[in-house]
Amino acid sequence: MTVFNFSAGPAVLPVPVLLKAQSELLNYQGSGQSVLELSHRSDLFETILHETESLLRELMDIPDEYRVLFLQGGATLQFSMLPLNLATNRQMVDFIDTGSWSQKAIKDAQAYATTRILASSASDGYRSIPVEAVTSDADYLHITWNNTLEGTTYTKAPQVGVPLVADFSSSILSEPIDIRQFDVIYAGAQKNLGSAGMTLVIIKDELLQRTPQSSGSYLRYDTHAKHHSLYNTPPTYSIYLTKLVLEWIKEQGFETVVQRNRQQAAALYTYLDQSTLFSNAVAISDRSRMNIPFSTGQVDLDTQFLKFAERNQLVNLKGHRSVGGMRASLYNAMPNSGVDALLSVLHRFEQGER
Ligand SMILES: *Cc1c(COP(=O)(O)O)cnc(C)c1O
Repeated sequence: MTVFNFSAGPAVLPVPVLLKAQSELLNYQGSGQSVLELSHRSDLFETILHETESLLRELMDIPDEYRVLFLQGGATLQFSMLPLNLATNRQMVDFIDTGSWSQKAIKDAQAYATTRILASSASDGYRSIPVEAVTSDADYLHITWNNTLEGTTYTKAPQVGVPLVADFSSSILSEPIDIRQFDVIYAGAQKNLGSAGMTLVIIKDELLQRTPQSSGSYLRYDTHAKHHSLYNTPPTYSIYLTKLVLEWIKEQGFETVVQRNRQQAAALYTYLDQSTLFSNAVAISDRSRMNIPFSTGQVDLDTQFLKFAERNQLVNLKGHRSVGGMRASLYNAMPNSGVDALLSVLHRFEQGER
């Protein structure tokens, strides 16, 4: 059965990527081995790792003075690794609070440092990104670029006098960004880069010196930088899948992917804004192009819609339990046909079909 998968993560992967992985599963490039079986010290795997990094550097235009690390532990481990490695001068971290993932990052940082919230959109139910200008004298400022549950996104990096750290888990490679405006960017792979297991960390070289000598080896960014992500066994297959995803992006051209994302999100928002049944409550200027929450405003009707959608091969549209309603995640791999199908099902439901 073919379905369109609107999950927030692990999420839809491009069909050509899955087919390529399938074709190479038993015998990778004539080696007689699966990538799953390759030693992480083998030439074949080292080539995969190297190519993944080069593709990322090319597609994201990552300057030489940044390191690219492939770690494990999800974005969640970064909530601890960041303060452990970087909050070492003033033991103080500033945050802009834009919702659920910001709060998890704040809570974990409290184990290592004093945390402050410079701005928050809590007062409007996290339906926007705070606009006030902020200044900081902390060890760094942390922001959540795209808020996966609430459906908001930054469009401009805040300018502060301290290193800027950004969680890009749900919007990495969905739009061009200027890496130089950030000091650390991190993202779990299972939303827009590949499969669960690998976490990407892009970190400015000079920050590697901040790590205290007493930290355990895996928890130190400088360990992974020094060993080019091969200090211990990295998530090999997840890195390989990311390589296939990056090749898929490069083949079409990043610009094509970005345009498709913009058009898909615009089409869904346009529908929701003119609908008399469904709506999205996020401030227009801060709307995410990756995660789009919407609802009828009535729990029963939302449940009916989710059932109707599922009967029409649209799966994982249920909103996060803390937000309710529906959420359509339109990551890079979502085909236009998936958005067309969603629009048609929304329309039919609104017309009274059940
Ligand atoms: C999914 C997500 C996380 C958590 O990622 P894990 O890989 O499950 O740890 C953190 N931040 C954001 C913005 C996310 O979307």
